[in-house]
Order: sequence, then structure tokens, then C-alpha cells
Amino acid sequence: MRVTPSRLVCQQAVELMSDYLDGALSRHDRRRLEKHLAECDACTAFLEQMRATIAASGVATPDDLSPEALNTLTQLFERYREPE
Ligand SMILES: [Zn+2]
Repeated sequence: MRVTPSRLVCQQAVELMSDYLDGALSRHDRRRLEKHLAECDACTAFLEQMRATIAASGVATPDDLSPEALNTLTQLFERYREPE
């Protein structure tokens, strides 16, 4: 697995996602995240699930999600990341 400084790893991508959904990312970070999403199924699925969870919870931002909801998301993410 290659990791270069310009390439986001999943951990960093996840950290950017709540700001991404808030529209609070800089253009630079947004581009980096979208690039990562284009090549990472786990993060794409996670972002979709986060969106769905936010919509279902009726909260405004990912920061308002309950710890339980975040926990569920994290578990889902771990499952996606397991090698096939
Ligand atoms: Zn990823």
C-alpha cells in the first residue's frame, strides 16, 4: 500500500468528511477528498451512509450526530475496509 504526502489516507478522508458535508472545506481540501473518494470504495460508502444517517436523524451537521450513530458509522466503515 502506497502512501504519499499528497495522497489522503482513509483516516484523513474521514476527518474531512464532516466539514465536507458542511461545505466548510477549503477548495484544496475538497479536491483532495474528492480525489480520494474517486478511488476508495470504503470512503465513498461511508460518506453516503453519513449523508443518509444525517438525513434520517434530522440533524444539521455531522457534528450533531449522536455518539451511537457515529459508532454505527465507524463500524460500517471498518467492515468495508476489510480486505476481500
Ligand atoms: Zn478511503
